[in-house]
Amino acid sequence: MDRLKNLVGIVTGGALGIGRATCLLFAHEGAVVAVTDVLDTEGAQLVREINSSGGVAEYWHLDVTREAEVQDVFSKIRNRFGKIDVLVNNAGISGANKPTHEVTEQEWDKLMAVNVKGVFFCTKHAIPYMKAAHRGSIINLSSIYGLVGAADAPPYHASKGAVRLMAKNDALLYAADNIRVNSVHPGFIWTPMVENFAKQSAAGEKDFRKMISAKHPLGHIGEPNDIAWGIVYLASEEAKFVTGSELIIDGGYTAQ
Ligand code: NAP
Repeated sequence: MDRLKNLVGIVTGGALGIGRATCLLFAHEGAVVAVTDVLDTEGAQLVREINSSGGVAEYWHLDVTREAEVQDVFSKIRNRFGKIDVLVNNAGISGANKPTHEVTEQEWDKLMAVNVKGVFFCTKHAIPYMKAAHRGSIINLSSIYGLVGAADAPPYHASKGAVRLMAKNDALLYAADNIRVNSVHPGFIWTPMVENFAKQSAAGEKDFRKMISAKHPLGHIGEPNDIAWGIVYLASEEAKFVTGSELIIDGGYTAQ
C-alpha cells in the first residue's frame, strides 16, 4: 500500500492505457499523482476516480511536444506539490505502419515529436527540480520494438530505440545527482492504442488479437497493470540501486 508514500509523480499520457493504470497504482501505493494528457475529459475523470477512492491526484493538460507548455506545467506541479520525485515518460503514439520507403517526412516528424522530443522536453524540465532535491526516478516507456525489429512501424521502432538509449545516457549523466533513469519494454498490451491498431488490421480485431497473442510465449497479450507494477517498482526505493537498466515485461516475446 505504501511503496510510493510521500512521493510526487508525474505521468505523461496518463489518461488512458498504461498511463492510466500507472496513475491508479501510484495513488494506491501512496504517491501524489500529477496526471497529464491531451485528453482532458478522460484525465479529469481519472482524477475524480482516484480522489474519490482516497488517493491524491490532480490533472493538467499537457502536450509533450510543446516545450513551453512542459516547462510551465512542471513548474505549476512543483509549486502545487512542493517537489517532483518521479517522471514517467509514457505519452506515445504508434504512427505510420507501412514500409520505410513509403513513410512520409511528415509522418516521421509527427511520431518523433511525441515519442522522442516529448521525452527530451519532459526529462529536460524535470531534471532541475530533481537535481535541487538530490533525488529522482525517471522512467521512459520504450517497447519490445526498441529492442528487436518486427518488420513493421519503422518510425515507432526508431523512436523506442532512441528513448532506450536516452535512458542509459541520462542515467550516467545524473547518477551523481542520485537521479535514476530506466526504460521499460512492454510486449503487446491491450490498451486503446493496440485496440485501434487491431481494428484497422486487415485480419480484423479478433484474429489480430489471436495472432499477436501467439507471438508471446505465455500465450496472450498483456494488461496495463502488468506494466504499471514494473513502473511502480522502478519509481520506488526498492529500485534504489537500479539505473540505466531495461525492464522487459513481454510474456517472453524477446526471449525467443
Ligand atoms: P494509449 O492507450 O494510446 O495511451 C497513450 C496516451 O497518451 C493517450 O491518452 C494519448 O492521447 C496520449 N498522448 C498522445 N500524444 C500525446 C502528446 N503529444 N502529449 C501528451 N499525451 C499524448 O497508449 P498505451 O498503449 O497505453 O501506451 C503508453 C506507452 O507505452 C506509449 O509510449 C507506448 O508507445 C508504450 N508501449 C505500449 C505498448 C502496448 O502494447 N500498448 C507496447 C509497448 C510500448 P490520444 O489518445 O489522443 O493519442
